[in-house]
Amino acid sequence: MTTIDRSRIKMLTRREESRYVAERPKSRALFERAKTSLLGGVPMNWMTQWVGSFPIFINEGNGAYLTDVDGHRYLDLCMGDTGAMFGHSPRATVEAVMRQVQRGLTFMLPTEDAIWVAEELTRRFGLPYWQFYMTATDANRFAIRVAREVTGRNLVLVFDRCYHGNLDETLVSLKDGEVCHWMDRDREERVVGLLPNPASTTRVIQFNDLDALEKALSPQDIACVVCEPAMTNAGIIYPDTGYHEALREITQRFGTLLVIDETHTICAGPGGLTQAWELKPDIVTLGKPIAGGLPAACMGLSREITEKFLVRDHLGEGIGGTLSGNALALATMKATLENIITEPTYRRAIHIAEQLADGIDKAIKAADLPWYLNRLGCRVEYGFCPTSPKNGAEARAAFDVELDNLLHLFLINRGILLTPFHSMELASPEITDEDVDFHNRVFSEFVNELVG
Ligand code: PMP
Repeated sequence: MTTIDRSRIKMLTRREESRYVAERPKSRALFERAKTSLLGGVPMNWMTQWVGSFPIFINEGNGAYLTDVDGHRYLDLCMGDTGAMFGHSPRATVEAVMRQVQRGLTFMLPTEDAIWVAEELTRRFGLPYWQFYMTATDANRFAIRVAREVTGRNLVLVFDRCYHGNLDETLVSLKDGEVCHWMDRDREERVVGLLPNPASTTRVIQFNDLDALEKALSPQDIACVVCEPAMTNAGIIYPDTGYHEALREITQRFGTLLVIDETHTICAGPGGLTQAWELKPDIVTLGKPIAGGLPAACMGLSREITEKFLVRDHLGEGIGGTLSGNALALATMKATLENIITEPTYRRAIHIAEQLADGIDKAIKAADLPWYLNRLGCRVEYGFCPTSPKNGAEARAAFDVELDNLLHLFLINRGILLTPFHSMELASPEITDEDVDFHNRVFSEFVNELVG
């Protein structure tokens, strides 16, 4: 197996950083200006988490490509961290937006589109009742509220290295067996303003550990488990064979609800992994790409929960907001579900993802590097260790910040954007075979430079 010379990583990083700065004078100038009016020079804090000493300012996004203010064109494999996973401004989505903007944006009253969308989501995810939100964070926040209400319990259980949005209950990690505040992307960055005692809201265990699950749920004080069916935020982590059957059986045995967050795993198919693996959650949440990039999210509830919940509460307060379920979001969701989030789209996107994965795999093997490669639908992920992590702790231990930074810089300088927080590539259906060849060539160039 080839081992990588660490001093070479440093040398290449310096070289790539200089090139990044030299080739982007306009982005650099805009960032300097932005620092006087935007917190940290950006409208949203994650935008500082890209590599390079300033973010790229974008001029335009179209299909699989972004163009920046300096005129560089990028093959986008980040796709707004899944928000735009079906391509930038897909035609049917844009047409629906154009139609609805002429007819009113938000009424705080229902439109017929909402019923169509709910019925379609029922067909895909199996759950009969739906509510709509603007972000997946909201959907998860309200799912936890519903779970607390229905079970009369306070605590939530999540898996180490999960991410379910900006919620105090889920921004947690496991350190030396203790629940602690979330450690941002393995870099131990602090999350701002979290409630002081995470153990008072949340229990945390490792994914794929059924003994720990049974132990954590047995006091019967946990309202819900919130999880992705396969983890994606610590890299792709697959469940062990039989894990989901056991998770369902154990949660039911201890009266804990199961919330499946499909926000990223919708990359696996039009009904996410819930449909693909025939999962039986009590609640499903989904946000990001469901309206093709326009802010929208949803929560689906089982009949049993809904009956308990409605009888007790007549819907009540605390599970929505002024703009939730607005006419624009619902019209856009309808058009996107009907025309874009469909089998043919996935066939194309998954075919592309397979080709990207193939190129990466060949380059890794040719250089005899001990790196693993995973794919989940149209999401591809690789890591700089021999075997795919089984849980968050293993993912944390395996993460190589320096190498990850270099990879991102190298690719950006050659016109390819990866998701900033890890070596994740999301294949949109807009990618062409020529784009795949281009990507595979650049990736192999990266590997060759690295091993020297
Ligand atoms: N759930 C999952 C699985 C996510 O990965 C994310 C965001 N990365 C969220 C929820 C939250 O989405 P948003 O930031 O759009 O609220």
